[in-house]
Amino acid sequence: MKRVKATYSPPHSHWVGDGFPVRSLMSYDRMGARNVSPFLLLDYAGPVDFKPGKRPRGVGQHPHKGFETVTLVYQGELEHRDSSGGGGVIGTGDVQWMTAGSGIVHEEFHSQAFTRSGGPLEMVQLWVNLPARHKDAPAAYQTLLDRDIPRVKLGQGQGELRVIAGEYGGRQGPAQTFTPINLWDLKLEPGCATDLRVPHGHNNLIVVLSGTVEINGEEVLRDAGLALFASEGTDIQLEANNTARVLLLTGEPIEEPVVGYGPFVMNSAEEIQEAVNEFRAGQFGMIAPGG
Ligand code: MN
Repeated sequence: MKRVKATYSPPHSHWVGDGFPVRSLMSYDRMGARNVSPFLLLDYAGPVDFKPGKRPRGVGQHPHKGFETVTLVYQGELEHRDSSGGGGVIGTGDVQWMTAGSGIVHEEFHSQAFTRSGGPLEMVQLWVNLPARHKDAPAAYQTLLDRDIPRVKLGQGQGELRVIAGEYGGRQGPAQTFTPINLWDLKLEPGCATDLRVPHGHNNLIVVLSGTVEINGEEVLRDAGLALFASEGTDIQLEANNTARVLLLTGEPIEEPVVGYGPFVMNSAEEIQEAVNEFRAGQFGMIAPGG
């Protein structure tokens, strides 16, 4: 059995722009980069109800460099544009996997349709680090549509696992990653008990977005709680006491220094200064006007 090393309660919520009331359930500075590598940060926005509006809420143009952002929409709809010319709508169940790599400028807003209709918004944004040799990868993004994400039944059919990245039960997730990663999105109905096998040597964490889940018959997680596992061992037991939504992340650790400054994550202070200079010099490009 894989040992639970630590559990964490969610911190208070803060606003990202005027669109996203976010709780940072995981971050490398709170939990230690070595313990969570290759993951850096996991922000959980909502669930919260927005009234119908006219002007889309969100966060305007800002840069990223040296890592990837992964946005999972559970409720609501987002719109995104970036300096590589990419953009589009991320709907319920969809995932956007953006490689900031050598540098990108983007904006993240509620979609026009969601702004007009209002309603519940619930989403997760995960930051995944890039190893030094890939920090200069060209900016890019992958749109992973809900219908293209494989689903595997769990337990006696009371659970379902979506394979977003990596592999489970012989099904391959659609995300292309730079280092070995599993990103599994689970929905468990009450009483669902399941044994999951994860790779030996990976860093491993579980987030219970909603519901109550017992782990390995000992730890109980609920309400945006997070558990960090020891890297040894391969077996995790989950049992849901009510309907639960769970994210399970595993990844091969990147054994390199992590130096972060806001939206830049590099390997040294010198590289951070370079990133700031590049951004100020306009080298990350700009978002095409209009659209
Ligand atoms: Mn961003």
